[in-house]
Amino acid sequence: MEIKTTIKATAFVMLIAGAIAATSCNNNKNQNKMNENNTSLFPKGEKLSNDWFSGNAFLQTLLARDKNNDFALGSVTFEAGARTHWHTHPKGQVLIITEGEGFYQEKGKPAQRIKKGDVVNIPENVEHWHGATANTKMVHIALTNYEGEQNVTWLKPVTDEEFSEVNK
Ligand code: MN
Repeated sequence: MEIKTTIKATAFVMLIAGAIAATSCNNNKNQNKMNENNTSLFPKGEKLSNDWFSGNAFLQTLLARDKNNDFALGSVTFEAGARTHWHTHPKGQVLIITEGEGFYQEKGKPAQRIKKGDVVNIPENVEHWHGATANTKMVHIALTNYEGEQNVTWLKPVTDEEFSEVNK
């Protein structure tokens, strides 16, 4: 009788210990997930003008053009729903996606889904846009080459209709 009680008590203690271990494991998982979600590679920077961007997009300049580097380098954060207007680059642009998921679309072609780790090599004078999806943010580093004093020509906004079409 006494042995049985001891076994029961031991089983109970093990059960509690197991529950605590499981809880603490979940907490660690949540903590890791939170760190992953809250720690961006670069600061968000300054909000970009709605003259050229729809929704909330931000730029952190990483490098300005200088005597050796004939390009601008920046980290662009697109909140869900944010995107560039249609535009071209006279000497092309490279995007390195560092966080989240979004779209890259060239005029007349289906949009491509882009995500963390992807690299997009955009040719010169090709009309395109890039941005977040309707419900996920996207962050990319943009390396934008110059031709003379110019590295971009802005065109029309990506309409809500065009944007919802690619999000279907
Ligand atoms: Mn571009």
